[in-house]
Amino acid sequence: MARSSKAPIKAVITDMDGTLYSWVDYIVPALEAMVRSLETTTGMPRIRIVQSLKEVYEKHGTNEYAFAIQESQIFQEFGYDFDSFNTLVIWPARRAFSEARRQYLRTYRGVLEGLEGLLSRGVRIVALTDAPRGPAERRLKQLEIDRFFDALYALEGFPVPDLVDEGVKEREKAGYYRSAVPTVVELPASFEKPSAEGIRQVLRDLELRPEEVIMVGDNLKKDMAAATSAGVLGVWAEYGTYVPPEYRVRLNVISARAVTKKNVSDETEERIEEPEHAISNFGRVLDIIDRRAG
Ligand SMILES: [Mg+2]
Repeated sequence: MARSSKAPIKAVITDMDGTLYSWVDYIVPALEAMVRSLETTTGMPRIRIVQSLKEVYEKHGTNEYAFAIQESQIFQEFGYDFDSFNTLVIWPARRAFSEARRQYLRTYRGVLEGLEGLLSRGVRIVALTDAPRGPAERRLKQLEIDRFFDALYALEGFPVPDLVDEGVKEREKAGYYRSAVPTVVELPASFEKPSAEGIRQVLRDLELRPEEVIMVGDNLKKDMAAATSAGVLGVWAEYGTYVPPEYRVRLNVISARAVTKKNVSDETEERIEEPEHAISNFGRVLDIIDRRAG
């Protein structure tokens, strides 16, 4: 059979947001909780808070920029003294965000089984995400799946600004926010998918041929397009593409359009060719690998 004569799969490169967990399911309540906290602590109207934060998120190209509050107009309003602002405004907001993240950030069904199955088969696991390095590492760590990964390739992280809580600076230095992933690589912005450069770099670094690798991802236009350009087998995590319309609306209130586009696949825009392999659960990637092994 032609299929079994193909090379066995030695590594799986996986997207993170929308593939390992629902990014929308946690970011929407987390950002909303943060905004509610800011409304309470500053007495500012919600619209001004949302717009001030959006401006910063847009500038950094991510709404996971950890220092958005002190960089926003809200700080201009109250920033006369950083210490009081930090204690009375930033901390409660960060806590609200973290609590919601703890509550709502969950791996999709089948992810743990899939990762365990890959590990037991000796298949290397690499995460390739367009999220910034810091938040990507924290998500893997919080989900307690960092131990499965050989490497994480993320976009460049952001430096800690001068105006920040001393404790945050110390924890950053001590590596408190880092994951257990042994190799973490920061890629330039130009490597953002659908660029195939990220996949190509993984292939070079792991000394693998394209036919020995599978790329799993929820976004047809980004993950699957990148897989095709790099010549690796694309496996579409179709289960990650369903976002309830209500969440889309709530996300649009709080998240800059360009940022949302980066994180949420919008398969409704236009039909594009669907890949040969679509899976209903991450664990199904094992079937493809086992079939290939014969
Ligand atoms: Mg994704």
